[in-house]
Amino acid sequence: MPTTRFENPRPCGLCQNTVFETLPNPRLAHLCRCATCGLVQARTFPDADALRKVYREEYFKSADSASTGYDDYERDRYCILKTAARRLDTIERFSPTRGHLLDVGCALGFFLEEAKSRGWQVDGVDISEHAVKFANERLGIPARVGMLEEAGYEPGSFDVVTMWDVIEHVPAPVSVLSLARTLLKPGGLLVLSTPDVGSTVAKLTGARWMGFKLAEEHLYYFSRKTVTLALEKGGYQPLEVTSIGKDVALDFLARRLRMYVPPLAAVLGKGVEVMGLDRAAVYVNPRDILCAVARRRD
Ligand SMILES: [Zn+2]
Repeated sequence: MPTTRFENPRPCGLCQNTVFETLPNPRLAHLCRCATCGLVQARTFPDADALRKVYREEYFKSADSASTGYDDYERDRYCILKTAARRLDTIERFSPTRGHLLDVGCALGFFLEEAKSRGWQVDGVDISEHAVKFANERLGIPARVGMLEEAGYEPGSFDVVTMWDVIEHVPAPVSVLSLARTLLKPGGLLVLSTPDVGSTVAKLTGARWMGFKLAEEHLYYFSRKTVTLALEKGGYQPLEVTSIGKDVALDFLARRLRMYVPPLAAVLGKGVEVMGLDRAAVYVNPRDILCAVARRRD
C-alpha cells in the first residue's frame, strides 16, 4: 500500500514537526511515521486515566501477552533475574563502582533485586500500585508509585538510571529522559532498552512483530537512529547502542514460535513437556530490542 502524507494535530514526540506519513502495512493503520525524523508513533494517544488502566494487576498476568502485558511476570522471575544479571554486566562495564541506581518502570522489582544482591543501592518507581506493593512488601525493595515526575527524588542523587522497555510507553519520552538527567550525578549513566522498529525481525514479521502492542501501550517505536536522537535531545552523550536479548522460559518460546512458525513450535512444545524443561530458560536475541547506554552531558 502506498504511504500518504498528512498533518497530525499532535506533533512528533521527538522533533515537534506535524507532517507524518502512513506506514505501508494496512494492519498498522493506527501508527504513523514522522516525515522529518522517522519516529514511529501512535496516531492517537490515551489520556492519563486510560494509561493508568493499562497497568493494572492483569498487565503482569495477561491472557493475551502478544497484544498486551506479560504472560505471568511473577512466574518468569527466574528468567528476569538472569536477564538482569546480563544487563548489570553491561552497566558495570561503564560504571564499575556499584553506586546508587534508580530503575524507572521497575515493575515487580526483579531487576533491582539482582542489582541489590550485587551491591548496588537501589530505588524504583512504577506507575503500577500492584507492582510497587510487591517490590516493597515481598522483596524489601524501596519503590514509589507514580510517574517519574511525581516520585520526588533528589536531583543529582543517582549514579545510574535504568529504563527497561519504558520510553515507548510514555507520552513525552524526551521530557522523561531530561528529568532522569537531572536526577543523575555529573557523569552519571542512563541505560535503556526499547523494541527496535528498524530491526530485520520487525520488518520480516510485519504486524505480528512482538514489539507492536495495543495502541494504548506502546505510543512510540524507536530505531537506532531515533533512540540516539532522543538521548541527545534529553541531554546525553550516547556511548553505545546495541541489541540485547532476554532469557525466556522454553514453554514461552514454544508459545511465541506458534505465532510465527507453527510446525516447529509443535515439536518444541512437545519436547519441553516430555523432557520436563518447562522451567528451563534459554537466552534469545532476535536482535529486535535496542539497549542504549548514554552519559549525562553537563
Ligand atoms: Zn519527528
